[in-house]
Amino acid sequence: MIVTVASGKGGTGKTTVTASLATIWQSKLLTVDLDVEEPNLHLFLHPEIETTSTAEMEIPVLDLSKCSLCGKCAELCQFKAITMMGKFLMTFPDMCHGCGGCLAICPDGALSPGRRELGEIIRGRAGKADFIMGRIRIGEAMTPPLMNIIKDEVAATIRENPMDVLIDAPPGVSCPAVTSVIDSDVIVLVTDSTPFGFHDFVLAWEAFSPFGKPMGVVINRAGLGASEIYRFCADKSLPVLAEIPYDRAIAEAYSKGQVITTVSENLRELFVTLKQQIENLAAGAGQEADHA
Ligand code: SF4
Ligand code: SF4
Repeated sequence: MIVTVASGKGGTGKTTVTASLATIWQSKLLTVDLDVEEPNLHLFLHPEIETTSTAEMEIPVLDLSKCSLCGKCAELCQFKAITMMGKFLMTFPDMCHGCGGCLAICPDGALSPGRRELGEIIRGRAGKADFIMGRIRIGEAMTPPLMNIIKDEVAATIRENPMDVLIDAPPGVSCPAVTSVIDSDVIVLVTDSTPFGFHDFVLAWEAFSPFGKPMGVVINRAGLGASEIYRFCADKSLPVLAEIPYDRAIAEAYSKGQVITTVSENLRELFVTLKQQIENLAAGAGQEADHA
């Protein structure tokens, strides 16, 4: 089962929910921080780091001495990463998406494969769970290529050694967030019960619901007053999987880099029940698929 914990905005408590879930997960688990621009799951899980490697993608390198300036590569590139400017051909490696089209189309062999560093991939162990996170290179404009490399590693890991996967997604609803949720079996949307939280929660639901994945909601700081969330969930048949109370002890634990499950036995139980609810969601989706 691949579970992605997502949110419409930062600051909802998505990462603390992910980390807290990881601590009560009894079956084999791979925890993944896909928020490569601002990874912070490790601050709560304190993994033992085992390896760090550099992630790269393929980009074209131009040999002007072979180029006939035919312009075919520039015509093909939808991202303007290779462009004719008058009689000059220019490449912009940071804008390249690595599709390889220009390399394939060049009639003169003037383009050869080069590499662009995307960032680093860090692996280790967090308690009983495997742990993997990415960190984007400073100045790198695109996060999905690095995220996709991590996702390929996750897929290879669970093919070899089947286990559950728990992903901490980047916040928001843009490409990186969609890249995170697209292969999930279950999406857990974390929101807080404030007007801002509700606004961005609706955006997240609009962005992710077209994928048809089972989705449930965790309401953090419940009781702060935005009752629209409950009405919206009822209207869209979105199950509320858990409500985390607005509690000073939770904020104190957060400020010390501790997970919510350490605050009290009741909160630990809340996450045990949340995990059960997630499994029920996944099982329900499986049964629907069997009957289809
Ligand atoms: S590899 Fe694709 S994206 Fe990159 S420059 Fe060539 S055509 Fe453009
Ligand atoms: S396709 Fe090859 S030969 Fe033509 S402009 Fe591009 S690099 Fe030069």
